[in-house]
Amino acid sequence: MSSTATVVGGGPAGLMAAEVLAAAGLAVTVYEHMPSVGRKLLLAGRSGLNITHNEPIDDLLARYGRAAQHLSLAIHRFGPNELRSWCDSLGEQTFVGSTGQVFPTSLRATPLLRAWLVRLASAGVSIEVGCRWLGWPTSPDGAVDAWRSQFGRADGSTIDVISDVTVLALGGGSWPRVGSDGGWVAAFRRAGVEVNELRAANCGVRIDWTATFVDRFAGVPLKNIAVTVAGRTVRGDAMVTSGGIEGAPVYAHSAAIRDAIDGAGRCMVMVDLHPDISMASLRDRLEHRRPKDSLGSSLRRTIGLTPAAISLLREATGNRLPRDPAELAELVKAVPLVIAEMMPIERAISSAGGVALAELDEAFMLRRLPGTFVAGEMIDWEAPTGGYLLQASFSTAVAAANGALDWLGRRP
Ligand SMILES: Cc1cc2nc3c(=O)[nH]c(=O)nc-3n(C[C@H](O)[C@H](O)[C@H](O)COP(=O)(O)OP(=O)(O)OC[C@H]3O[C@@H](n4cnc5c(N)ncnc54)[C@H](O)[C@@H]3O)c2cc1C
Repeated sequence: MSSTATVVGGGPAGLMAAEVLAAAGLAVTVYEHMPSVGRKLLLAGRSGLNITHNEPIDDLLARYGRAAQHLSLAIHRFGPNELRSWCDSLGEQTFVGSTGQVFPTSLRATPLLRAWLVRLASAGVSIEVGCRWLGWPTSPDGAVDAWRSQFGRADGSTIDVISDVTVLALGGGSWPRVGSDGGWVAAFRRAGVEVNELRAANCGVRIDWTATFVDRFAGVPLKNIAVTVAGRTVRGDAMVTSGGIEGAPVYAHSAAIRDAIDGAGRCMVMVDLHPDISMASLRDRLEHRRPKDSLGSSLRRTIGLTPAAISLLREATGNRLPRDPAELAELVKAVPLVIAEMMPIERAISSAGGVALAELDEAFMLRRLPGTFVAGEMIDWEAPTGGYLLQASFSTAVAAANGALDWLGRRP
């Protein structure tokens, strides 16, 4: 009789683990608590599915910071090239965008997921939706029975599933509406597994704008700006929202901003509204203000600031714009925004925290619960946007599934 595998979580990591395990001949069942699988993947596809990043593997690995070493083997074995070939094999060719980001040609996740589910069905993978993983049963003396997974159904009934190996791919804590709600953390902690708190990552920051600013500019982009936090500068387009600022150059700093708020209760973010023009050149241009121009008109006419950018200067200074061209140029190059709060995890693109790396062996098996592997965003790694989140989710899934196969081969 073939060995059995339980995979929990029908996101990219869970489905990839299921594919690898089924290809090796295991009888695989994927359990998912939502009514369908891949909901966050589909959400990611709505804004252009950035599936990985095309850059030298060491540069790519560096994006994972302190987790890079633990992810290294997984990413070397199933990296961007392997992921792109896998997309090809599902009929979704990929292309490299101008900044190295890799997208499927359709830019969406729907065709990929549809083809993938057909492949999984033909490999014999069964998918049980509406089954919420509750944890492992424990004996009265507190011992965890890692062979069993307990699931709850919507009608209140529970089932116990026994299998030869288990891969848990339950996701992080962002966008709980699409399924990854971090509810698994308590069960892991009860079982003695260290889990670092799930925190918002790749998210915007909260700023208390004036009502006038929100009315006029919520939803308006601040194009081609440079955002500096703790000496590091990232360029790109940001977006004013009713509660703050979002966008790639802000997301890129979310870990640093979070750490600063943790330490000092606030973080100073500097925005350069004209990163391509030097301070001296801005000052020279501002000196040519026409006497009858208001300060706002002269900022628009002499240095081409948009109405949103001009109002941002007013927001940052309590509407006390300096009249001196040198001071004004200085402000345009470094608009100070004091941030006391990140956007909540519910609005974040990903989460930091998760199963502590020390709990995992090199194949992502829980050291305390042999035979149980974890994969994807539920592991404590963090990376910026740019395709790195999906890459690590897929890579760790392949590694965990292969680890499970190795482990089964070694079982007495
Ligand atoms: C708006 C948005 C855009 C994004 N865009 C990109 C992008 O372009 N590129 C990129 O690299 N990344 C992107 N991401 C991040 C990426 O989608 C995630 O990193 C990735 O989906 C993580 O995969 P995963 O399989 O680990 O977790 P998930 O995709 O979260 O899947 C986990 C699954 O487990 C299920 N589950 C959770 N708890 C239970 C339970 N108790 N019982 C049963 N099932 C459970 C969930 O319902 C879910 O289906 C984006 C995220 C968001 C929110």
